[in-house]
Parts: sequence; C-alpha cells; structure tokens
Amino acid sequence: LSKRREQYINQRAVTLDGYHVEVAANIASAEEAEVAFAQGAEGVGLFRTEMLYMDRIEPPCEEEQFEIYRKALTAANDKPVIIRTMDIGGDKPVDYFNIGTEENPFLGYRAVRLYPEYLNLFHTQLRAILRASHYGQCKIMVPMVATLAEAKWLREIFNNVIESLKVEGVEHNSDVQLGIMLEVPSCAFIIDQLVRYVDFFSIGSNDLTQYLLAADRGNSKVEHLYDSLNPAFLRLLKHVVTEAHKAGAWVGMCGEFAGNPEHLPILLGLGLDEVSLSAPRILEVKEAISQLTLEDSKAVLEQALNMETSEEVSELLQNACQKKE
Ligand code: PEP
Ligand code: MG
Repeated sequence: LSKRREQYINQRAVTLDGYHVEVAANIASAEEAEVAFAQGAEGVGLFRTEMLYMDRIEPPCEEEQFEIYRKALTAANDKPVIIRTMDIGGDKPVDYFNIGTEENPFLGYRAVRLYPEYLNLFHTQLRAILRASHYGQCKIMVPMVATLAEAKWLREIFNNVIESLKVEGVEHNSDVQLGIMLEVPSCAFIIDQLVRYVDFFSIGSNDLTQYLLAADRGNSKVEHLYDSLNPAFLRLLKHVVTEAHKAGAWVGMCGEFAGNPEHLPILLGLGLDEVSLSAPRILEVKEAISQLTLEDSKAVLEQALNMETSEEVSELLQNACQKKE
C-alpha cells in the first residue's frame, strides 16, 4: 500500500474544491465491520443481514442477532452504521421461509414483502437492532420498498417496537432513524410522500438498474441491457437525488455502481451524501475523490445526461480519468 494512499485510513475524502462525501463500507458480518474500519471506512452504509439467516435450519434469535449488531456498532466507534433488515427471497432463498418456486423470483415474494407473513421474525430483528443501537450510531434500513403503503406500515411497526421496548424498560436509542433502499423505480416518483414516513434513502443501484431496464441482474443473455451507465439510468439517479434533497432527506448509494472509482465524477456530480462500497476499494476511492473537483464532476454528469449511449458515457469517464492523470 502506498504511503500516499495510507493517509486516507484516518482522513475524510474531500474534493480539491472542498466538498466532502462520506465513503462507507458494505459488510455482511460483524467481523467485516472491523476490517472495514481498519481500511478507512467512515461508516457502514450497508450491513446485509440476510447472511445471518442463511445456511441454517432456523432463524437467529434476538440474543444472537443483538450480539452481532452490538459487535459491529462497537467496532464502528461512534461512526454511523446502517443495518439493513433481511432481504430474503429473489436470489437469496432460505428454507424456513415458505417462498415456494416462483416464475420470476426477482418480481416476487422478497424482502419487505415477506415481513407481514413473518411478522415475528421482523419484530425480533428490529428488537435486536434497536437494543444494539444503545452501543453506537445506528440506523435501520429496509430493502425493496415499492409503495407508500409499505413505508407507512413500516413506520407503524417500528414505532410499536420502540414503544414496547420503552414499556419493558429495555435499553435502546429511540432516535434511531428508519430509512429505505431506493431500488424499485416506483419510489423515485413518491419521494416527497415517502419522507413523511422514512428518514433517509440509500440507492441500491444493483436492483434499481435491473428493475429500470427490465433486465435480470444475473442473466448473461441480457447483460448488455443491465447497464448502469445507460443515460436513462443516470437520469433516474439525478431525479432521485434532486427529489431527496428537495425534501430535506439524506441520500447515499450502496450498490456496485458506487464502488467503481471511474464512476466518481457521476457520483460526486449527483451530490450524493455517501457512497458505500466493498472495503478493499475504500482507500482507492478516497484518494480518487481527493483528486477531483465538484465543479468538474457536475460538468461531466451534465454531459453524460445528454448522451445517447452508455458507450459514449464510458468514453467520457475514461477521458475524465486520463485528464486527471
Ligand atoms: C442493490 O440492490 O444495489 C443492493 C445494494 O442490494 P443487494 O445487492 O443486496 O440486492
Ligand atoms: Mg438490492
């Protein structure tokens, strides 16, 4: 590791014209939290918890989950940690959830859509996270929300769980924020309404790309359509960030798109509050941010939004990189 890059382990990433974007990590276990913070993460932008439910015959109990979330929050040392509630279904089946065989699993019974039927399991997870929230700066995020009704229902359940912890006298932080993933395109058009029930957003570019372009993220035959540099997708991103900020809400991005340093002019130009990526890329991304300006990035994004193909966008981004070097 070069000395130049190493300085970013304990340093925030700021552009040459003074703009800060939080660089956070995607993790799937408490151990990965420790690794991520050692590699310069300014927070955890996505703790995928479904791994806790997989490869076993019954779900993890409240105590088991509590210990895991507490460990992650302790490793964070008061930096923010966004814990995402279980995203089961789609490409992540789990035996004790009776999902059955579906013709279109990605359009089917997945994530938040399972919670009403498995309400006990959702309650257990919320209780475990809220109890752990006493030990750090924790936020809760729900995957695959598609409608305002879901957001409203989530807020109600969330408030009920907090109320019962209060009544029981169980330690927790009652100011924990409740957010949602922006990964179903419908949400992009109701952000002004969603903010009545949720506190923040994180763009899941993997699913958002798949659902916008109607191209299965795992099907190589439609790989050419599954393309996050498609100007239509970039326009959606622009719309989402603008609307979220207009509504006064924090908006980050935790899909793969955020983990590619070449995409930084777009990510910065959008004005995202945070990017969250796999830990090994954090220092590289922080270093790259510190060599760009917000002003140039905005100009690159503006150009990209008016292009016709992702190939043109890709070329634009490569040129932007070379100019910098
Ligand atoms: C996403 O969809 O971009 C995302 C981060 O969630 P996952 O990859 O776990 O579906
Ligand atoms: Mg997703």
